[in-house]
Amino acid sequence: MKAARYYKGEKVLRIEDIPTPEPAAGEVRIKIAACGVCHTDLHYLDHGVPTFKEPPMTPGHEISGTIEKLGDGVTKWNEGDHVVIPAVLTCGSCEACRRGRENICQNMMMVGNNIDGGYAEQIVVSAKDLIPLPKHLNLEDCSIIADALSTPYHAVVNRGEVKPGQVVSVFGCGGVGINVVQFAALAGAKVIAVDLSDEKLEMAKKLGAYATYNAKEEKVEKIIRKATGGCDTAFEVIGNPKVMLQAMSTLKTGGRFVMVGYTADSVALPAARIMYREMEIRGSLGCRPVDYNVIVSLVDQGSIALEPLISNRYSIDDVNKAFDDIREGKPIIRNLMVTS
Ligand SMILES: [Zn+2]
Ligand SMILES: [Zn+2]
Repeated sequence: MKAARYYKGEKVLRIEDIPTPEPAAGEVRIKIAACGVCHTDLHYLDHGVPTFKEPPMTPGHEISGTIEKLGDGVTKWNEGDHVVIPAVLTCGSCEACRRGRENICQNMMMVGNNIDGGYAEQIVVSAKDLIPLPKHLNLEDCSIIADALSTPYHAVVNRGEVKPGQVVSVFGCGGVGINVVQFAALAGAKVIAVDLSDEKLEMAKKLGAYATYNAKEEKVEKIIRKATGGCDTAFEVIGNPKVMLQAMSTLKTGGRFVMVGYTADSVALPAARIMYREMEIRGSLGCRPVDYNVIVSLVDQGSIALEPLISNRYSIDDVNKAFDDIREGKPIIRNLMVTS
């Protein structure tokens, strides 16, 4: 099968022909329809973040496809079923999994990091992790449920606990942030979207933002706090320490800050304000298996739109072009690698 492979220290994935994997007992092989091209992969390519699987490794963690071969003992699934693969596979038996918090599983395996991922024609994964998709949904577009939709759903619903009538600020309207906007609006909040790109802000408005602010504006956090009277919840979806403090500054007394963006850097926090004003800080990572069926239902009933989120589609041979377009800062929501 064809696969786009990451080699240590290389900034370009090598398009190679590698053996098609065979499913072992309890596993299935999936013919990949599409894989979302996520900014996270640039951490390996451009920023030296090591992958858990020793390279060469196939990245890509937003995968949808069709089951084409069942391993021994797999009875729940049939060949031809449409599925989405969660970006993170969980063990189901560690302390976190037993508490119902599988997204922070102590033995989590990230697809396209711990194991070979989705920039390929086929993939083998454990059958127990798969999420079924109704056949009338666009199979390619559903790939982004695996991360670009699941991460914001968990951030808004489980960690932000966003309620109707609340005021919410969202800093960063990329592939994940734009869907924090979408889910928070769906939850009934008044959503204030912030980004550097006017095009992304326009999209945020289309997907439910009440107001948008360009972060180029000086002291944008103060302007937002003044305009709203202070936000109940603020989301940072970039992973920039400065922006995290900015987002926190939009909060009212007793407000909640949810960290969705990743950074390896430390952040200096305003300790007195956090203590005196009872500010809350919560991390948010991925989502739990139980959340996926809700997200699929929301897509199915038309409450969450997928198609407007897909910016460009690339063949597997052109997957490096998809990364270049992200590097060039084009106003991309989600690029897809498609195999058809
Ligand atoms: Zn991702
Ligand atoms: Zn676990």
